[in-house]
Amino acid sequence: MRIEYLNLSRIHNSIRSELDAAYNSVLDNEWFIRGEYCLKFEEEFAKYCNVSYCVGVGNGLDAISLILKALNIGSGDEVIVPANTFIASILAITEVGATPVLIDASYSTLNIDISQIEKKITKNTKAIIVVHLYGRMVEMSAVSNIAKKHNLFLIEDAAQSHGAMQNGKRAGCHGVAGAFSFYPGKNLGALGDAGAVVTNDKSLAERVKEIANYGSKEKYVHNYIGVNSRMDELQAAFLSVKLKYLDEWNIERRRIGYIYCSNIFNSKINITMQENDFNSDNVVHIFPILVEERERLFEYLNGLNIQAYIHYPIPVYKQAAYKEMNWCDSDYMITNKICNTEVSIPLYPGLTNEEIKYVCSALCNFK
Ligand SMILES: *Cc1c(COP(=O)(O)O)cnc(C)c1O
Repeated sequence: MRIEYLNLSRIHNSIRSELDAAYNSVLDNEWFIRGEYCLKFEEEFAKYCNVSYCVGVGNGLDAISLILKALNIGSGDEVIVPANTFIASILAITEVGATPVLIDASYSTLNIDISQIEKKITKNTKAIIVVHLYGRMVEMSAVSNIAKKHNLFLIEDAAQSHGAMQNGKRAGCHGVAGAFSFYPGKNLGALGDAGAVVTNDKSLAERVKEIANYGSKEKYVHNYIGVNSRMDELQAAFLSVKLKYLDEWNIERRRIGYIYCSNIFNSKINITMQENDFNSDNVVHIFPILVEERERLFEYLNGLNIQAYIHYPIPVYKQAAYKEMNWCDSDYMITNKICNTEVSIPLYPGLTNEEIKYVCSALCNFK
């Protein structure tokens, strides 16, 4: 048996005729960027998230930087962001010329340590970006209170949490705006690059749309120094097909996560799993386990033909790209520990019960 970390063809084959039809409709329509399929998906995704506006953009990184640009955040401004995240959350901040202020992770949630946010707020702080990493929601009421108290914009990087819910609100809808990526491997993935911004603020949505379209609302009239980051029709049409299945797929993700959590016991090696609450509406984008003997575990899993990954092997604060920031190791001990011990095991809709069992017994028998 060989167990791939991710197999998208299982999902895509189950809806192949719908994807084929979507492709053919766009081809016949002869309009390929920001047309009726984009508008349709924007409406559907806004409705799904229960927000007033959704703007389809080029990718998830742009979704974040477009929000920052539309909020006029730039040079001289500081933005609070978790240290344990994919680099895109931070690239968006430096792209607009603002300064990322990294907050260490909490070991129990692997997300931003909320208790450390307030002491990093200065007179230059303009926004907090939270990331619902691995599909697990940050406790939004706590962060929201801090943002309100200090008059900061609260932005969600929801690239790993499509459909997650807390206090009756979807991920992406708790602050001023939320950013989504539809990179193929995400819980809701296109068949190429795509992203979206969701918000209840009409003028913010309009600014995002305008900046993403060369800073232009009316052809050849430019109010902003814009960029080109638009959703194309093919991706929008594919996303409309896949959105219908998102809840079903997320339920399957939680089911597998629950099986892993309740069946992986190892008396010899300490395997730490998140105290994930599978009754809640977290969406288990990634199933992280923490193991000190990671190298050995990788060899072992490799020998059993189980593919695993690391999210993320080198923390952003140690990346050469950011060496000028002089981020100090001792401020990010938990993030460092996570990056040194994390292993992501296969979890996706389409994984069979036999495969799930095989992964469980492999981890139970590791010594
Ligand atoms: C994937 C991802 C992004 C970036 O999305 P792209 O569409 O690849 O640009 C941003 N933030 C997080 C947390 C992600 O996982």
